[in-house]
Amino acid sequence: MAFVEGEVVEVGPGVWVRQAVDNCAWADLGEGVVVIDTQEETKMAPVIEEEVARSAGKPIRWIINTHWDADHIACNPIWAKAGATVIAHESCAPKSSDPDGNPDLTYRDRHTLASGDREVHIEWLGGTHTPADSVVYFPWAKVLHIADLFGWGLFMQRQWDKETTDRTREVLGRILQYDADTVVCGHGPLLKLENVKRYLDYYNETVATVPELQRSGKTLEEVKAMVHPPADMLDWWRLTAWKHASNLETVYKAL
Ligand SMILES: [Zn+2]
Repeated sequence: MAFVEGEVVEVGPGVWVRQAVDNCAWADLGEGVVVIDTQEETKMAPVIEEEVARSAGKPIRWIINTHWDADHIACNPIWAKAGATVIAHESCAPKSSDPDGNPDLTYRDRHTLASGDREVHIEWLGGTHTPADSVVYFPWAKVLHIADLFGWGLFMQRQWDKETTDRTREVLGRILQYDADTVVCGHGPLLKLENVKRYLDYYNETVATVPELQRSGKTLEEVKAMVHPPADMLDWWRLTAWKHASNLETVYKAL
């Protein structure tokens, strides 16, 4: 899958993604532009503004934050001061340190942002990466933004107990129900739903295999030598560089 750092791709009619380690997505909603997640550094604000102007040619009127990690909210205050409405899950509100970047509009389970003849659907799928995790669906373009619920093979779950592991399966299963031709994640290349399905299988296999090896007395180093990254995932973004080993270590230490 082509991935050029800093390249802007129109992934569906009126939906763009600036591909990077930290992706930024936006869509034309007639009266203005909605931006999904606002980068890790404020120095990116003029870069994104220029690309939004070049592609959609309209002002940023809404921000949707998929969750409240620092690498997804940096430009909130800048665009909020310029008039954008910040939309995020209700669990985000108390966490903000800058009042100008706080959510103006929150939701519990779902929210629909409607403007012109387009609707953007936000669904809360939280509880694994962060409490706030939400996905954003652009139905007219069949584009789904799943943020950090997918990390090109990296396990994004932050707590390791049965409840959270079950929730990860539930969340990925729900994502697979969407009618999406293109999927956007928080970091790295665009993907397809097939990648989410493959990831779920890899996740299930690793979570089953590693504790078994551990119980049979294998050390972490032995497990790493035995459990290879799946052959059909070798070209996944940075998987073999460090993610697979990190996953084995996470599960070995946690379960
Ligand atoms: Zn992130």
